[in-house]
Amino acid sequence: MIRLLDNSDRTKPVLIVGAGISGIACARELRDHGVPFKIINKGMKIGGRMASKSVRDSGTQYDGRVFDIGASYFTVSDPGFMELTDSMLNAGVVADWTDTFHVADSQGLGGVKVGPMRYTARKGIRSVVEYLAQDLEITEGEVTDLDEIVLREQYSSIALCMPTPQAAKIYPEAATISPAQWEPVIAVSFLFAEKIWRDFDGVFVNGDNEITWIANDGTRRGDHAPALVAHVHPVLASHHLMDPQAVIPFALRAVQRTLGFIETPIWSHAHRWTFAKPLEGSTSALPLSHVGQISLAGDEFSEKPRVEAAWLSGRDLGRNLAQKFS
Ligand SMILES: Cc1cc2nc3c(=O)[nH]c(=O)nc-3n(C[C@H](O)[C@H](O)[C@H](O)COP(=O)(O)OP(=O)(O)OC[C@H]3O[C@@H](n4cnc5c(N)ncnc54)[C@H](O)[C@@H]3O)c2cc1C
Repeated sequence: MIRLLDNSDRTKPVLIVGAGISGIACARELRDHGVPFKIINKGMKIGGRMASKSVRDSGTQYDGRVFDIGASYFTVSDPGFMELTDSMLNAGVVADWTDTFHVADSQGLGGVKVGPMRYTARKGIRSVVEYLAQDLEITEGEVTDLDEIVLREQYSSIALCMPTPQAAKIYPEAATISPAQWEPVIAVSFLFAEKIWRDFDGVFVNGDNEITWIANDGTRRGDHAPALVAHVHPVLASHHLMDPQAVIPFALRAVQRTLGFIETPIWSHAHRWTFAKPLEGSTSALPLSHVGQISLAGDEFSEKPRVEAAWLSGRDLGRNLAQKFS
């Protein structure tokens, strides 16, 4: 059981753990209200599940090119998030990608489905979080002992901005706060020698046991490189979390079958997300963030878990903490 924080001293900073979009939204809100904070993030790169991976050693001109291996795109419905997106469109950080995706089943491509605008970032989706965090100082490190941090009494409050299964490793109570169920994804990136498929932006693959989605990373990035990213079905992914590379042949076969070609890639990469997405429907009763002695924020605190929900959750937590400490 974590001891209670002494939050009577308002000069002490808030500790934000996690520099995904929810942690950064929380930090920006605190900064705007003049509340001191410190951000700690595990790993050399920020952005969390808004992640991009550079091609290495492909022996082609594409070395250094980034693939989006986490969130595929983001959509916008909230006016505050629209305002932020407009400012990033004006700054050239994000761009319209498409409102039209194909659908497919295990036999191959079917028709198209028109939906909301999907936004992308030409430099990779991670660049969105990097842009939002550009004026913020972020300390690299993994928080492993929250009790010890509380005991040192350096912080007025602690905000855990990450999936609750990750938060529960350092704050076991988190597991009882959010009922969200999580599913894994393995994202497989493929670079081909040339484009050998007909034009498309993305394909929702229904009723297939191997993949659920194919993104055309060439149209997404705007460079029209012969680049695809497939998301492996959660059941198949769950069997290969210890060895994600092993799913590459399954994913390739499913992509070939869906798009109708037999060529093989010149470079491929598999990335495992153990806690990729909260299951829609498992999160509905939750408020936008959990504010307590130790607070939680992230995409699962919404009926529609996604990038926008994570941003709203972090922003709302930041607002709540700012009200308390400014
Ligand atoms: C494969 C995949 C596809 C997706 N597709 C879409 C999509 O198309 N559209 C959409 O809107 N959303 C999509 N999402 C969801 C979207 O990425 C998330 O909703 C959003 O990025 C969540 O942001 P977050 O800040 O809440 O969490 P995260 O991005 O997970 O950030 C958490 C951060 O906390 C850090 N952290 C964790 N534990 C610790 C610790 N102990 N100490 C320090 N730091 C720690 C992590 O390193 C990470 O940087 C997708 C996600 C995945 C994985």
